[in-house]
Amino acid sequence: MADIATPKLDGKIRIPLMEEGATAHYHTLESSPALNEALGYPGELVDNWQEKAIEKFREVLDTNKALRVFMDICVKCGSCTDKCHYFIGTHDSRNMPVARQDLMRKVYRRYFTLGGKLFPKLVGAEDFTKEVLDEWYTYFHQCSQCRRCSVFCPYGIDTAEISMAARLIMNHIGLGSKYSNEIIGKVYNTGNNLGIPAPALQGTMEFLEEDVQEATGVDVRYPMDEKGTEVLLIPPSADFFSAPHVDSLIGYGKVFHEAGISWTVSSYASEFANFGMFVGDFHAMRKIAQRIKDVAREFGVKRIIVGECGHAWRVGHSFWNTLVGPWDFLDSRYPVPQHICEFTLDLIKRGGLKLDKSANDERIVTFHDSCNVARASSMGGYEGGQFEVPRDLIKATCNNFVEMAEDTIKESTYCCGGGGGLLTDDLMELRIQGVLPRAQALHAVMESHGVNYLALICAICKAQFSKVLPYYDIPMEVVGGIHQLVGDAIVLGGAKHEV
Ligand code: SF4
Ligand code: SF4
Repeated sequence: MADIATPKLDGKIRIPLMEEGATAHYHTLESSPALNEALGYPGELVDNWQEKAIEKFREVLDTNKALRVFMDICVKCGSCTDKCHYFIGTHDSRNMPVARQDLMRKVYRRYFTLGGKLFPKLVGAEDFTKEVLDEWYTYFHQCSQCRRCSVFCPYGIDTAEISMAARLIMNHIGLGSKYSNEIIGKVYNTGNNLGIPAPALQGTMEFLEEDVQEATGVDVRYPMDEKGTEVLLIPPSADFFSAPHVDSLIGYGKVFHEAGISWTVSSYASEFANFGMFVGDFHAMRKIAQRIKDVAREFGVKRIIVGECGHAWRVGHSFWNTLVGPWDFLDSRYPVPQHICEFTLDLIKRGGLKLDKSANDERIVTFHDSCNVARASSMGGYEGGQFEVPRDLIKATCNNFVEMAEDTIKESTYCCGGGGGLLTDDLMELRIQGVLPRAQALHAVMESHGVNYLALICAICKAQFSKVLPYYDIPMEVVGGIHQLVGDAIVLGGAKHEV
């Protein structure tokens, strides 16, 4: 573990005293020329970067009307100031959402408003200097695009949209983040964020079959690249190799086995994540989504079910139709995509799964709402379903469920601190500081109710919490997926269901 000081948890979330510029030295690694060029961006900062940035800014304002409105309507009411986990964790006043927005707003005013062109000082307008560009790079990579601040803004100003636009503009002048751009490049080349080749994926699936057979005595299949199945499952690629993610993949397989539904994963569409959203690049988002559609068509599946991945659920649920629809070659009785939690809960409600809740009796479970699911999607086809479906599923699989404090869950959930393309080791200090409010809320229920399992439906949350909670003396073993609970509670061979 890195030597990073953390406060002692006491279960209370406090608004900190401000320290302007406390995290000004956090600088995520810049993307290499080769990585940038592979995504169609200039290799490095172009000579006339200011002119190009303004040009791109104008284009973004013309295509994203909401962004222009967000630039114009902030009344500096202050409601958002204490709502960001990075401000709470880092104390840096520039991590207040309105301050982050103002980094873009002052440039907007200078080049796109009459007042800013004529009297810049009077209206808080500033030239787009190299110093301002450096601030953009620093602080737009200290926003996980979680949208918590927008919930509390009376005008609904969405800092995530602003941060995405800033990253898009920076990429277009040759200044990108290594972490996000490398991942997008890996998806283009291998089909998944981790760059895992097909034989390694196949090896994992075979290993899981042996493992489950050994543990349960039942032949549960974990198929790959099988054409003509009913379902194409798109998990986040971490499900193939990372812990605790893989336990959810085991759970998905057991659910399909019990449902009697044929399914497969694809070695190319082997990733649900879509980092195109984090860099605000709709072309990248489309290209990443298109490969899933192509594989679904090629395999001749009837439906697409997706695994536990938060931001990808937003992309799939909210953007897939616009990006790559229509999906008229699939069975119209099912939503596209369908979340694995929707699928499993529906199966349970129809008697298609036999569950032994006592198998999870050692667990006292709480649930962390992932930002992109909670604030940017829905689930189950009804309002609030994104909150209820995961909770109903947890309650169906275990006897002990406890909620964290009301102001830290559902639409008010705090980010894990690693979303939005910030799950990189070069931002470890920020990640550790950013998890603070969630860690406090978790600590409170660990103390009051003995909670020992943090149930999740996001691959980034799982990776982030496993890594940073130990800095606060919370063991990584508390972290797990909802389908890990499902997989452990399923009585294999217990019920058969006509689908
Ligand atoms: S979107 Fe989230 S991370 Fe970004 S400023 Fe708002 S609260 Fe902070
Ligand atoms: S809550 Fe909205 S209007 Fe108020 S300061 Fe923040 S961004 Fe501006």
